Amino acid sequence: MPDQLKLYGADWCPDCRRAKAYLDQHGIDYQFIDVDLDKKATALVEKINSGKRIIPTLTLHGKSYTNPDNAALDEILGINPTGVVVMYGADWCPDCRRAKRYLRDAQVRFQYIEVDQHEWAAELVEKINKGKRIIPTILIDGQPHTNPDNDTLRQLLKLDEEKPQKSYDVIIIGGGAAGLTTAIYAQRDRFDSLILEKKNIGGNAWLTEKIENYPGFTNISGPDLMDKMEEQARTYGAEIITGVEVTGIEPGEHCFTVRTKGDAYQGRSIVIATGSTYRMLGIPGEQELIGSGVHFCATCDGAFYRDREIIVIGGGNSALEEGIFLAGFTKKVHLVHRSEAFSADSIYTEKLAGMQDKIATYLDTTPVRFVSDKAGKFKGLEVKDNATGKEKLIEADGAFVFIGLLPNTQPFKDLLDLNERGFIATQGLAQTSIPGIFAAGDVREGAIAQVAAATGEGVLASYGVKAYLKG
Ligand SMILES: Cc1cc2nc3c(=O)[nH]c(=O)nc-3n(C[C@H](O)[C@H](O)[C@H](O)COP(=O)(O)OP(=O)(O)OC[C@H]3O[C@@H](n4cnc5c(N)ncnc54)[C@H](O)[C@@H]3O)c2cc1C
Repeated sequence: MPDQLKLYGADWCPDCRRAKAYLDQHGIDYQFIDVDLDKKATALVEKINSGKRIIPTLTLHGKSYTNPDNAALDEILGINPTGVVVMYGADWCPDCRRAKRYLRDAQVRFQYIEVDQHEWAAELVEKINKGKRIIPTILIDGQPHTNPDNDTLRQLLKLDEEKPQKSYDVIIIGGGAAGLTTAIYAQRDRFDSLILEKKNIGGNAWLTEKIENYPGFTNISGPDLMDKMEEQARTYGAEIITGVEVTGIEPGEHCFTVRTKGDAYQGRSIVIATGSTYRMLGIPGEQELIGSGVHFCATCDGAFYRDREIIVIGGGNSALEEGIFLAGFTKKVHLVHRSEAFSADSIYTEKLAGMQDKIATYLDTTPVRFVSDKAGKFKGLEVKDNATGKEKLIEADGAFVFIGLLPNTQPFKDLLDLNERGFIATQGLAQTSIPGIFAAGDVREGAIAQVAAATGEGVLASYGVKAYLKG
């Protein structure tokens, strides 16, 4: 029996949802095993990952893969824009070598299965070929092809079709709330738009369990809200390509060339909407508890902790500002900072000094690990006193990490003016330092880092694009 692809994960885990959505999108058959409901599965995941409970973990044909991103899934499973390719062959077979080389030269991803190593694979090949063991046997989107020559492969995979050298009115880099909104507005203005997205459409909001502050929805899950935005952008005709990471922009005489790993796209204008990444502590338990005990946004998730006890981690302006804000309605805040003094401005440290009844401070204290109970429910944070080396558990109902935001501006740092923290500086209608390139959402200097704000910035950028293209 062929091995079925197994995805070990949990419903609350954003990357599990991302991987499941990607497999579903490409019609890949897999079995989902919820590690929260299956102790054996948890033990297996921990064994694969040297004691760490990292999900999603995937297994296939005796190999395991820890939290592969969508590009890695493409490689593992042979996912291409023209189809999913699986080749059954053997190392000693000349035609298999020929076909493998041809596909590699044509940059076609394929899953390769040695029939000599898997009895089930040999049986499958014999079944396909009416009892004969003919290799290579190649499945393209599940359809078998017995020892196809290079010409047949070229036709089947549409390799000789010239890639359209289409030029877009606007290329939007990043498919989060800001990018999708720009596309909706640009399409309605009759501008051809293309979204290039590194992972999956939806951005950070897609990773959010519950959104309670997006106007029009008292409570909506992040994936539901972002799926609606994606549907709206597609309805108006926006083109969307996922799994492509933009590596740079080259300004030309009449248009910009946007480079990705392996491809290039032409656009008359560009909107950068690549968002930012919350800095994480990188300690055990953090990844597993994101969204269910560990949070990075007080405005978004603080309300879940009304009259409850929480831990805030960080010592800069945002940690103190958010800690003071959270202390306004929670029962108690435990503020943990690894240095001997807070680095926040005195306006915050002075306020903090007057709130000792609500905020307990732990300076010179390093977070060690987040702790959950047997049911996976958040229990607290284990910390180490730097002076004594002693460790202790601070028990609470949840924790908020405020140790900074990292803008996703690496590919643009040599091209555009960025501020000292790496965010893109803009003026007017979201205009960057280069005319024709705009920035919207969390990647922009001064952004508010909320979904509603990001959609507003998408509107602003679309107006900038309109003025630029018509000007
Ligand atoms: C855990 C969490 C909870 C949150 N909860 C809420 C909430 O309840 N309410 C609220 O209003 N806000 C919430 N936020 C904030 C909100 O998600 C963001 O403000 C919003 O998503 C910003 O949208 P954006 O489009 O600017 O960026 P993002 O959503 O970050 O989208 C940027 C996109 O660009 C892609 N990208 C990055 N680099 C590249 C590249 N080089 N090439 C191609 N694509 C690239 C990324 O993969 C991503 O999909 C939360 C954020 C987090 C992390």
